[in-house]
Amino acid sequence: MKHIYVNGTILTMEDMQKQVEAICFEDEYIVGLGNRSDLIKRFPEAEIHDLCGKTMLPAFLDAHSHFTGVANALRLCDLSDATSFDDIIIKMKEFAKDRKLGKQDWLIGANYDHNFMKEKRHPDRHVLDEISMEQPIYISHASSHMGVANSAALQACGLHNAMKDPEGGRYGRDADGSMNGYMEERAFVSFQNQVPMPSMETMLELMKEAQAIYASNGITTVQEGFTQSSLFQLLLASAKSNTLYLDVVAYADVSEEKDLFTQYPTYERYQNHLRLGGYKTFADGSPQGKTAWMLEPYRGSEDRGYPAMTDAQMYQRIEKSIIKKRQLLIHCNGDAAARQYVTQFEKVMKQHPEATTHRPVMIHAQLVRKEELERMPALDMIPSFFVAHTWYWGDIHIENFGKQRADKISPAHTAKELHLPYTFHNDSPVIPPNMFKTLWCAVNRKTKSGQQIGNTEALSVEDALRGLTIHVAHQYFEEDKKGSFKEGKQADFILLDKNPYLVDQTKLDTIQVLETWKDGKCIYQKK
Ligand SMILES: [Zn+2]
Ligand SMILES: [Zn+2]
Repeated sequence: MKHIYVNGTILTMEDMQKQVEAICFEDEYIVGLGNRSDLIKRFPEAEIHDLCGKTMLPAFLDAHSHFTGVANALRLCDLSDATSFDDIIIKMKEFAKDRKLGKQDWLIGANYDHNFMKEKRHPDRHVLDEISMEQPIYISHASSHMGVANSAALQACGLHNAMKDPEGGRYGRDADGSMNGYMEERAFVSFQNQVPMPSMETMLELMKEAQAIYASNGITTVQEGFTQSSLFQLLLASAKSNTLYLDVVAYADVSEEKDLFTQYPTYERYQNHLRLGGYKTFADGSPQGKTAWMLEPYRGSEDRGYPAMTDAQMYQRIEKSIIKKRQLLIHCNGDAAARQYVTQFEKVMKQHPEATTHRPVMIHAQLVRKEELERMPALDMIPSFFVAHTWYWGDIHIENFGKQRADKISPAHTAKELHLPYTFHNDSPVIPPNMFKTLWCAVNRKTKSGQQIGNTEALSVEDALRGLTIHVAHQYFEEDKKGSFKEGKQADFILLDKNPYLVDQTKLDTIQVLETWKDGKCIYQKK
């Protein structure tokens, strides 16, 4: 059955024919688009649908987030608006009561941010011990790069005072040297890996809910941004039980010995909406947690953050991706981390002159310098910006870096000038996968307190939309199937209540997704 949509604003995200009068879908594909009467003549049997003035846009693709993280966050106590340590205690206690958690159940809170709390520092185990001394409790920071556990949780995970800090991580200590419950980077990651996961059944249900959240934001392709074996089992279970309806692209932990690609070779292509896209690793931490690795110190200190790995380790990971001919994503926030990535990549390519790169991505690229952006085209490297930081943490960045350096955060306009196929992401569950908020940020660049942050790096609405659609399809090597309206591409589209090109630019974040369609099927409808 063919369906022709007319009487609305159809934005193609193609360069040649930016807007069309009508579009025709057959099953999961676009079979024609252009002039309304021509299309009706060409497909006289098609059913005609009246868009009633709505705007149709290609569905969004998520350039970087953590799909199962979004699912998992649904069972955690949300601390994103906690304003003090006392507030955390109250919220966690209420949550435990609401969910009827017993003493043996883990009580977990997510997304606290010390920057927005009265105390202006991280809580410690003594604070969380006030909730319970027996129940294991931990909370994770909004950056996901650090967190705090209570005494029972430290004990449950076998952490003790004599333990040394792991390479690329740190345990907080009391004055007497005993662990105070705070953990960052590698220390926090290995702690979290020991916390028992909920049952498979629970996770499968939560993954359904997570898909509904992405779909309600107009996203039909999502990322699993760092996939270790245990996590991939969850994705596999979901795919095999036929409950995935969004396309999920998983990036395997590059340092894992047992390679997911060798274990699951058929998943190099989509199987029941799941595929392996390449490798992922981390070069540093986060700027709002002052663990992003910087070339110059944070304001008012000697501290420059720190790298997650040595040059040699980075080289070896990049080389692995080149030898295996796979895409590599590296989390780089600080300018030193960005420089390390580009420099080591160039070295690997010098060593392997016969090899080609596979659209490597610099994830976050928040403080990447112009010099490094200029070195990216030769490597076919893509900067993927976490541009909503300008609003969420913009004021903190101005505090941490000074206005001049903070203005350079997420240099999207510089990337555009260099013809780089930049993308934008939300790193959910760090922030919700709200694409119109991200669009608003890329265009307006305003902080929460209303300060302008780096106006010269702002983009036009059209250029910002590219970073959420066609450029992301390119990042996934799916530009022949997704990201724009063209004959033969997939029928993945969204209907909006307003035309982003006509709405007041300061109100871009008020645009609502009314419907989301994937492979020619409606997967979300606003109530
Ligand atoms: Zn990251
Ligand atoms: Zn991430």
